[in-house]
Amino acid sequence: MIPFNKPHLTGKETDYIKEVFASGKISGDGNFTKRCHQFLQQKYNFKKVLLTTSCTDALEACAILLDIKEGDEVIVPSYTFVSTVNAFVLRGAKIIFADSNPDTANIDVSKIESLITSRTKAIVPVHYAGVACDMDSINAIAAKHNLYVVEDSAQAIDSFYKGKPLGSLGHLSAFSFHDTKNIISGEGGMLVINDEHFEKRAEIIREKGTNRSAFFRGEVDKYGWVDVGSSFLPSEVTAAMLLAQLESIDKIQTRRKEIWNRYYSLLKSLEEKEFLKLPVIPDYATNNAHMFFIVLNNLETRSKLIDHLKRNNISAVFHYISLHASAYYVSKHDGRALPVSDMLTNQLLRLPMFYDLKNDEVDFICQKITDFFTTL
Ligand SMILES: *Cc1c(COP(=O)(O)O)cnc(C)c1O
Repeated sequence: MIPFNKPHLTGKETDYIKEVFASGKISGDGNFTKRCHQFLQQKYNFKKVLLTTSCTDALEACAILLDIKEGDEVIVPSYTFVSTVNAFVLRGAKIIFADSNPDTANIDVSKIESLITSRTKAIVPVHYAGVACDMDSINAIAAKHNLYVVEDSAQAIDSFYKGKPLGSLGHLSAFSFHDTKNIISGEGGMLVINDEHFEKRAEIIREKGTNRSAFFRGEVDKYGWVDVGSSFLPSEVTAAMLLAQLESIDKIQTRRKEIWNRYYSLLKSLEEKEFLKLPVIPDYATNNAHMFFIVLNNLETRSKLIDHLKRNNISAVFHYISLHASAYYVSKHDGRALPVSDMLTNQLLRLPMFYDLKNDEVDFICQKITDFFTTL
């Protein structure tokens, strides 16, 4: 079976983890965490980053930092992962779902402004498949209406918008290092703080509401409970694994892009024959090869193609189910139809995409897809 995902290890992870055990400092914010922070701040020019135990945690920290309260409204695409909205729902926010673009599966920027009310606090764009949302337009709308922008950059490591790294464009941003992402630490994430007035409080929220980080820097002579917070910092074991991965990021990205480009060129003729649509990378965006998806013409075709690939030992999987129609939120949604989100729910299919995928496996997958449309 060709799996949909297979976590890639660089080989250095175990060496670094052994160093952690030898050092006797296993809890968080030690040497490896510092080295990850430095690496990420230098490579991507992020002003301030904090490792977290997941992207979900980083998003929860964002909702606390923005003081999201009962009755506040947050604009989020319906076609996303639950954590994007759960973080804000936990603080009492009402989610105002936006529709998506059919070609990138990113939030449809033209739909945002009509959703803004006097209660709107934030816009949360998601860089789907690691391809940038139209951030200049989103930031202009946010500035005009005095709103915060939180980028869900879970899939967006090493990807850019007009030359600027994703995650550096909103007030705050959240990344994931879950096994399914390009760079992994099992579970893991990162909060990026671009608006410096959030910096101090972000450290406090991540440290159970205490000013422990400032204490260890010698800025205060004792530490205590100063705000709300949680335990969002990962252990050094997680940071050690992450550093090993980060040190191989250029190699990992080069191979993933080769795989992505191979899929694209092998499937192009099927798009020309209108059997399927391939992802679109807008001029302002780069492609970090997080995902390779195709969009089929209808749900029935997608189901049959999934079965056909399964019979050929290939695991291809659909993705999100529109959150506005979810069991938890359907009764809270304002009832607006979100046709593109529903179309993507039914018609988008993700193909196997991981560093160790071989060229002949990509060729085999594309051959089986071609057979499905042309010989069956
Ligand atoms: C993976 C993902 C998350 C959650 O990341 P975790 O690190 O597993 O919490 C959130 N949003 C999006 C868009 C994701 O793809």
